[in-house]
Amino acid sequence: MTASSSDAPISEAAMSEATAAAMAAAGLVPGQSPSPLRLPDTAIFARRAARLRTLAEGHAMGDWLRFVAALADAQAAVAATPAILPPEEQWAADLRALADRLDTLPGGAREALTALAASDADTLEALAGRWAGDALEDGDLAAAPFLAAAFQTAWTRHAAALDPASVTTHATATACPVCGGAPVAGVLQVGMESGGLRYLHCGICHTAWHHVRSSCVACGDGKDVSQRFVEGADGTEANGAVRAETCDACHSYLKLLFLEKAPDLDPVADDLATLALDLLLGEEEYRRIGVNPFLAVAG
Ligand SMILES: [Zn+2]
Ligand SMILES: [Zn+2]
Repeated sequence: MTASSSDAPISEAAMSEATAAAMAAAGLVPGQSPSPLRLPDTAIFARRAARLRTLAEGHAMGDWLRFVAALADAQAAVAATPAILPPEEQWAADLRALADRLDTLPGGAREALTALAASDADTLEALAGRWAGDALEDGDLAAAPFLAAAFQTAWTRHAAALDPASVTTHATATACPVCGGAPVAGVLQVGMESGGLRYLHCGICHTAWHHVRSSCVACGDGKDVSQRFVEGADGTEANGAVRAETCDACHSYLKLLFLEKAPDLDPVADDLATLALDLLLGEEEYRRIGVNPFLAVAG
């Protein structure tokens, strides 16, 4: 595994077919001012499932990526059903609905999901508290991906139905303006209006918000920021759309995804598929800004 630093910008190619596709995928229309906020649509789960299956081909973590794709299939179906409760309560119902749709999981995972779906409200509430507070115990880990999937489903459905005018954000916000969640990654936009703008993407409700690009998301420093990427880790194709923006003022990093390189990229999926980059930066003792909800660890 090797890392390279690069300050070279992604080339500003002329408006190509790929760029047009990327703009459409990002919900952008040439000639209109970019909004500082992008609310999600629930079709994100179907797009994620497709992206994960593409990334899984020949990937060292292919089985894991296909497992998360199966979750995304179920999320797509459940998110299309109406919510009855506010998202803070709806997630438990969504969890049981997901369990009903996931009957072909590998043995251990299916057992964990069955046990989870049969848990009483107090047990679920306590588990959700540990999950949200980064205080999961070893015995919680098998349930964690299902919990993440249920929270995403409930909060994304909620966010998708909001009026954008009812949500306020600012250009240095580090938490999601809708659900308070952490960013999973930044995405560098393409196109004439918002090309070069960075949006941070919430890993829970999938809202994206504009964040000034020139400064570190953690400390605001702009001088000590550089980019890293991983070339060919363990026989895995390098993901050319993903770099890490490292800050040497506070020793933290955030992944930056380039839509121009992969118009169908998905922040959660592409982050999972580039874990090698996190491992490398962890070895160098960089601290990750934000989390991927599918990478919960016992605390
Ligand atoms: Zn959010
Ligand atoms: Zn910093």
